[in-house]
Amino acid sequence: MLTDIIVIGAGTAGLTAAIYGQRAGKQVLLLEEGIYGGQIVNSPQIENYPGISQISGFQFAMNLHEQATALGARLETGKAVEIIEHDNEKIVRTENEEYHCSAVILATGAKNRKLGLEKEDALIGRGISYCAACDGAFYKGRVAAVVGGGNTALGDAEYLANFCKQVYLIHRRDAFRGDAGQVERLKDRENVTLVLNSVVSELIAGQRLEQIQVQDVVTQEEQQLSVDGLFVAVGQVPENQAFAGLVELDSQGYIKAGEDCRTSAEGVYAAGDCRTKNIRQLTTAAADGAVAALAACEYVSQ
Ligand code: NAP
Repeated sequence: MLTDIIVIGAGTAGLTAAIYGQRAGKQVLLLEEGIYGGQIVNSPQIENYPGISQISGFQFAMNLHEQATALGARLETGKAVEIIEHDNEKIVRTENEEYHCSAVILATGAKNRKLGLEKEDALIGRGISYCAACDGAFYKGRVAAVVGGGNTALGDAEYLANFCKQVYLIHRRDAFRGDAGQVERLKDRENVTLVLNSVVSELIAGQRLEQIQVQDVVTQEEQQLSVDGLFVAVGQVPENQAFAGLVELDSQGYIKAGEDCRTSAEGVYAAGDCRTKNIRQLTTAAADGAVAALAACEYVSQ
């Protein structure tokens, strides 16, 4: 069966593309390797989406999914491992299936970057987490640390401060990348300690994480902090290698595409965090979803 548009990735960009594609009268299939929603489900609270003063990331994703599927978009689970062109069709292969379509929108987002420390993988679920919204509740009344200086780290620290005894926010510089207003709010919280110009250099653990070694990058001094949980929020990395033979990637692995979301391959578009861009926000992901879908609809109608 030939589908009009296949969208790879059901995060904010992908789900928005599905909404726009379906509303334009095209049949959209969303392929998602995990659970729909993308990165934003990890955000405890969103406060910068126009028209919605406050909403949890999880609720936001649920709303998007409901809207897309109510319009007729189909969601299937599968990891796209290859896309090839054949007889004016595009064939998307997952590990078990093969799908044919006229246009493809790559909305693969990005994955959590790791600190790269010894024992980091082994301690996931035993003190190390990449999602405060998912795992934060396990640390009620306990001591948590967040590492990172972007909006995710700030949001995580603020969320955890609501119920943790103590929250350390560890950032490698003395200025934050994330919203200044949120930084000021954190400074007012009695149970939040900013640990600046510092990196986590070692994880100290028995069965679970017990302490973290923190090094001041200016003085080189080291201290050990006793923590029950460490929330890693040091940004994302793209995962587009499977498409490297189809579309051009930049040196960091992002899909080369401008504001029109067009890639180097005809009929293949890139939307959201997976493409080359300066500002990666919910609003820009949603905007990309709309732009890519309308371009794909035009291509399909030719
Ligand atoms: P980010 O903005 O890329 O910030 C990553 C932070 O981690 C930076 O402060 C960076 O330090 C630090 N970092 C990177 N590698 C590190 C390492 N190896 N060790 C220690 N620190 C490291 O990532 P993000 O906070 O996840 O946000 C990603 C995008 O999503 C951003 O555009 C953000 O604004 C957006 N976002 C939006 C919302 C929202 O719209 N509500 C919510 C969350 C995130 P430096 O600053 O020194 O580079």
